[in-house]
Parts: sequence; C-alpha cells; structure tokens
Amino acid sequence: MNVSDTEIVRALLLSSTSPQFTEVETEDSADLLLTNTCAIREGAETKIWQRLRLLRSMDNHSSSNYSPRPAEEIPTKRGKRIVGVLGCMAERLKDSMFTEGNVDLIVGPDAYRDLPNLVGKLLDTTSDDSSGRASNTQLSLEETYGEIHPIREGKGASAFVSVMRGCNNMCSYCIVPFTRGRERSRELGTIVTEVTRLVEEQGVKEVVLLGQNVNSYHDKNESAIQSRPDSDYKTSSPGFSNTFKSRGGGGYYFADLVDAVSRVDPELRVRFTSPHPKDFPRELLQLIAERSNVCNHLHMPSQSGSTTVLERMRRGYSRESYLELIQDVRERIPGVGISTDMIAGFCGETEEEHEDSVTLMEEVGYDQAFMFAYSMREKTHAHRRMQDDVEEPVKQRRLREIIDTFYDRLLIKNQAEIGSTQTILVEGESKKGGQWSGRSDANKTVVFEIREEDKVEIGDYVRVGVKGITGPTLIGSFKGKTTLREESMRG
Ligand code: SAH
Ligand code: SF4
Repeated sequence: MNVSDTEIVRALLLSSTSPQFTEVETEDSADLLLTNTCAIREGAETKIWQRLRLLRSMDNHSSSNYSPRPAEEIPTKRGKRIVGVLGCMAERLKDSMFTEGNVDLIVGPDAYRDLPNLVGKLLDTTSDDSSGRASNTQLSLEETYGEIHPIREGKGASAFVSVMRGCNNMCSYCIVPFTRGRERSRELGTIVTEVTRLVEEQGVKEVVLLGQNVNSYHDKNESAIQSRPDSDYKTSSPGFSNTFKSRGGGGYYFADLVDAVSRVDPELRVRFTSPHPKDFPRELLQLIAERSNVCNHLHMPSQSGSTTVLERMRRGYSRESYLELIQDVRERIPGVGISTDMIAGFCGETEEEHEDSVTLMEEVGYDQAFMFAYSMREKTHAHRRMQDDVEEPVKQRRLREIIDTFYDRLLIKNQAEIGSTQTILVEGESKKGGQWSGRSDANKTVVFEIREEDKVEIGDYVRVGVKGITGPTLIGSFKGKTTLREESMRG
C-alpha cells in the first residue's frame, strides 16, 4: 500500500507547477527527501527512526559517496535538505516528529494533495514563519485520490491500483483505523479508466486491487447509486459478523468492481489485497471461480486459531466459521491458493489458545503466511483495556512454532505440485541469467530455465513444468508461451 501511495505522491509532485519538482537519480542530489512510513508494529517504526537519523546525519558529514552541499546552494529556509515523513507514522505521531525525528515536513495519508503547498512554504524565504517546518495530518472522510494517475517507478508487468482507503473494523490490536481513517471507496469508473490506461499505454498484464479492507469496497457515489439504486449484495460471509453496521443499500460492491475490472481485458490478471474474511459472500466466490483472469488466490487473514482470542481481537468470527469458509472456498475454487496473517502472543493468550493457532496452520495448510509477534499499539482497544502480558521470549517461541508448522505443511503441499504444469506471468530474469521467475495463478513464485533458442520477456504468459522445490519456491522448466484464453480453454 505504501508503494501505491508513493506512486500517488510522485504523480502529485510531478504535476505541480508551483513549486516545480523533478525526480533525480540519486538521493545525494535531492533537495527534498520523503520517507513513506508504516506504524503497524513497533519494528516498522524502529526502521524509520534509524533512517531519519541517517538522513539527518548526512547534513553535516561527508561519506565516501556523499558530501553535503554548502547551505547557500540549498534553496530552503534552514539551508538544509528538506527531510519529510509521510504515511501512518506521520499520522500517529504528528508534530512530535519535528523534535523526535528532527524532520522538516510531516504529512499524513489523506493530506498528500497539500504537499506542493507545504514544500512551497519551506522554500519561501520571504515569509514571516521562521520555523522551517510544515505539517498536515488531517484525515478525510472522502479523499481517495480517485482521479490521480499514479506514476510507477519501473515498467513491471504488475501494477497496484488503490480502490478504497481506511478501515472501519476496529480489530482490538490494530492501529490502522486511527492512522488511515474511515473507510471510503473510489468511484468505480475512475478505477476502470486507470486499469484501461495501464493496459493500453503501459502493457500491464496484472493489476492488484488494493485497500486496507479491499472486499468491503462500496462505491456509494451519486452516479453509482443512480445506476444501481438497490442491491441485494450480501456483504457478509455466512457465520461472520460486521462490527460496523451501516452497510447495505445501493451502489457498487466488491463483486461489481472485480467484474468490471476483469472485463477490461481477458489477458489481464486480476488480484486483490488485503481482504477481510467476513466479506466473502457466495456471489464473489462464484465470480472468482468462473472468471478465468481473476486469480485463484485468496488472502484469508485468520490472525488466530482460537475462538476466545478471536473474540478478544474483535474479529467477528470463530475458528469454526473460519474453517467452514475455507472449506467452502476450496470446494468452489479448485486449486485455490490460500494465504494468511497470524499474530502470536496477543494479550492474555494461553498455551492452549496458542496451540489452537498451531493446529489451524496445520489444518488449513496455507500457501503463504505473514506471521508476527504481537506488538502493543497506543490508542487501540487492547492498549486501553488489556494487558500485553505474554513475555517476549514466550511470544518469540510461539511465533517460531507457528512459522515452523507453516513451513512443514508448505513443504508437503509444494512437493505435491512436482509434475504439474503451471501458467506463469513472467516478472523478471534472475541475476544468474537463463533463469526467469514469475508467479502462478495461485500466487506461488516459480523459477524456471529456458534453453538458448527460447525467447521470453517480462509480461509473457508461459507454461512451466514443475520439477522441484527450494523452500517456498517452485522450480521448473519452460514448456512454451501461452495466453490466458488458451489456458481457460484447456480447462
Ligand atoms: N486489513 C488487513 C491487515 C492490515 S495490517 C486485515 O485485516 O487483514 C497487516 C497485518 O498486520 C494484520 O493482518 C495483522 O496480522 C498484523 N498486525 C496488525 N496489528 C498488529 C499488531 N499490533 N501486532 C502484530 N501484528 C499486527
Ligand atoms: Fe486492522 Fe482489522 Fe482493519 Fe485489518 S480489518 S486494518 S486488522 S482494524
């Protein structure tokens, strides 16, 4: 999401006429250095503090590849390069980062349109404000940067498209609703326009629809309500409850969006992240199963395998309803890849509750997992009402057990793929040469060899015969180029 937000910031800065910005090749030659940040766990913030210290230390010290320019050559009030922080950490800590981080500019996730103006203030040597500091951390109920066309850094085959922002769920451990604000969805039409441009102008072969809670997408803009005044879209998966009640009514829902985006081009793969398991109604699962260019991979973040922990986390489902959903998904979408997020050592977690997480990993057999030790965040319900009482070594041991169980199961799953043929979107050539990598429909990374006479390019669809595995990666050999249409006819 930060990669996507950075693309939006790049577009906003490069289109500004006053002041004007150009992007430079190296950090050393920049007058403005922006760092996009994450606040989800303490570890993410520690990295940023280190980075800010490094950037600031460069103001006065030469190193082998950098020597600070004389103050009079730098067009800012403080005679130093502008160091700015963007994103969730800026939003969480607000102006306290001026002193703690010794930064000049602080801008929250909903205030990026104000960036040129804020930088302008820092450059204006005639103004009365001598602080040399500027900030905007206002959150918004509407901002989606809908009509901005993000500028990507490279020319990869895959592009991120932000479709909604914010989160209304208030899981008890999570800072996101406080740093990203309320849920709001971008107009469906602007998303389809952006995807069409990516395909036609940049040859993009895969889009990843992005949102903090992507499958609770709901375009309630006037034009959406007018063209769809009533909808019987069931927002919830059976057995799941919505903590946030004001849903329903007309407009476009997530299945409408996936439907529209997947029709832009049958050769365009469509993925999405990060969904919440509560918003997978049958209609959506059916669409994913039927539409050949919507990838058969679902991120189903469980967070814990224990019903009592899930209650304390305020996730709105039990272990049993989660497992029923997984079973339903696997029946409807054969070969589907399933991934998860897991937290070890949440407040009050007992050994028994932890065991439930381990057995969930075992039982589901995930294809990918993002696993974390619980990190207490200020402002959250858990911070106000619960004790972060699982000792750090215990948390780390439990995390290790969850990770080990995941890899043990993955090994068995991946071994079963040996001998299969996978359709891969080629994403890059390996450094060694002669070896390429890409991802399968189910989102597995596949590395494959080609013979000298074969030609492969980034953005090609190829068939690969799987011969072996190394860790989570499948290893195979090139069998020929293909198209998604051809693959869907193969069945
Ligand atoms: N909206 C997404 C997740 C966004 S945050 C969802 O609900 O799935 C990404 C992941 O970070 C979460 O899924 C969770 O596993 C993890 N996470 C969030 N807060 C955390 C915390 N306080 N400590 C440890 N992990 C956390
Ligand atoms: Fe955080 Fe829960 Fe919202 Fe995900 S759904 S961003 S975990 S509050």
